[in-house]
Amino acid sequence: MKESSRKQGAASPCAACKLLRRRCAHDCVFAPYFPADEPQKFASVHKVFGASNVNKMLQDLPEHQRGDAVSSMVYEANARVRDPVYGCVGAISSLQQQIDTLQAQLAQAQAEVVHMRMRQYSSIPGTNSPENGFPSSSHTHSQSTRSLFNMDMVVDHTNMEESLWSC
Ligand SMILES: [Zn+2]
Repeated sequence: MKESSRKQGAASPCAACKLLRRRCAHDCVFAPYFPADEPQKFASVHKVFGASNVNKMLQDLPEHQRGDAVSSMVYEANARVRDPVYGCVGAISSLQQQIDTLQAQLAQAQAEVVHMRMRQYSSIPGTNSPENGFPSSSHTHSQSTRSLFNMDMVVDHTNMEESLWSC
C-alpha cells in the first residue's frame, strides 16, 4: 500500500513538493505523510513551522515516529492558524479550566454526599436528636444537585490569559 502510493508520488508530486514547486524525489521525506489529495495539511505546517524546519524535525526522528510527529504538527499548526494568539495552548488552557470547574463540582458533590449520610444517620430513631433537625435545607440541596447536571461547558475566554500564566 505504501509502495504503490510512493510510485504514484514519483509521477505526481506530494502535497509538500507541489506547494514548494520542486521535484518530488523517490526518497522525499514528506511524501509518506503529505499526500497530494490533502494539500491543506502541508499548507498549515508550512505556514507555521516552515518547510525546512518540518523537514529537519522529520529527519531527526526515527521513521516509526514520523507519522505521529506529523499528526501533532498539523494539529498544532491548525490551532495556531485558528487562534494566532494562543494556538493549541488556548485549547490546553480551556481544558484545564474545565478540569478545575469539574473538580470543584465533584468536591461539592462529595461534601453533599457526606452531609446527606450524616443526616440519614442522625434521623434513624434512637441514634441522635429526637427533634430531627435540618428542617428547611432540603430545598437548597435539590437545587445544587440539579446544577451538577446543567454544567456549562463554555469557557470564559476573558479569564484565559490569567489562568495561562498561573500554571
Ligand atoms: Zn515530495
